Amino acid sequence: MELMKAAVFRGPGIVQIEERKKPIARAGQAVIRITTTTICGTDVHIVKGEYPVKPGLILGHEPVGIIDSLGEGLEDEYFVGQRVIAGAITPCGQCFYCLNSAHSQCHGPLGGWRFGNTIDGAWAEYLLVPDARANLAPIPEGITDEEVVLVPDIFSTGLSGVESGRVRVGDSVAVFAQGPIGLCATLGAKLRGAALIIGVDSVPARLEMAKRFGANVVINYREHDPVAEIKKLTDGRGADVTIEALGQQATFESALRATRPGGTLSSLGVYSGKVAAPYDAFYAGLGDQTIVTTLCPGGKERMRRLMAMVATRRIDLTPLVTHHFGLDDIEEALDLFSSQRDGVMKVALKPARAVEMPRVAAAVGAAD
Ligand SMILES: [Zn+2]
Ligand SMILES: [Zn+2]
Repeated sequence: MELMKAAVFRGPGIVQIEERKKPIARAGQAVIRITTTTICGTDVHIVKGEYPVKPGLILGHEPVGIIDSLGEGLEDEYFVGQRVIAGAITPCGQCFYCLNSAHSQCHGPLGGWRFGNTIDGAWAEYLLVPDARANLAPIPEGITDEEVVLVPDIFSTGLSGVESGRVRVGDSVAVFAQGPIGLCATLGAKLRGAALIIGVDSVPARLEMAKRFGANVVINYREHDPVAEIKKLTDGRGADVTIEALGQQATFESALRATRPGGTLSSLGVYSGKVAAPYDAFYAGLGDQTIVTTLCPGGKERMRRLMAMVATRRIDLTPLVTHHFGLDDIEEALDLFSSQRDGVMKVALKPARAVEMPRVAAAVGAAD
């Protein structure tokens, strides 16, 4: 029995490095050796005990790696040693929800989100990928791990905010919160051809990044009322599309107030407790507004499309990868990420085995 190192959730506030059995791929499954993964805001919710998962679970849902072994039935499409990613959401492609185009809700509410939620995740040396034929996406030639590590979740989710909001050429779009997902929504608005893109946050570094990612206007909500400012910028109407990328009542409400009659509020945040729509912001329910929610789209075709944008240099997500840690330093990485210290946006996490090969190569080079 082979063992591997993994970062395991042991209850609120506790994530520890443990030795676990290396997974074995059965028919239709694959095992990948993780070379890079990352921490998501959702993982922080889990660790804080705000989103329940089973103690003993390996967390993490953003895998970049190399195929280590393949279960039966995959040999014609994949090979051992192939560099791949899998989406944070791994739909089966065959159930009621998948065949009704609700892939992220595979088998039931939120069911497509399996890694680090209902099955072991990517914070480990190896990861078992279920329904591999639907979910393993080869990384294009010449692309680094850092260039694609935000594709499985952050970019897919951020972009889905503008896709679900049906942003059209010439639209005005306001994105509430400019964390990694909000920034990817900002970038997505630019890709979809929005004319006016407004980024709202309070952290100056994030507002700067918002400009870099496509915002033509940024609003620091501690200095200005974002709803009033957005109305001023849109002839008093409100934005065509607003995107909520935080998951709090206050941002939801501001986004709704800033959505013009007939416009769309596209919500990406993860909420807890109750979310209320006040009478006036909701035009008493008669404003023809659309409110949509989206859970990160996954599956290999989605991943292929997003990585094509990376490969053709239409997008560059690397400015968001601000810090690097070994998987062994998960506690330190979690602490930094959750406290948002030192300008952290996203951290790249590398299991020890991920750096074995370069180390050997360096040693050989030195001997020469
Ligand atoms: Zn996530
Ligand atoms: Zn399904």
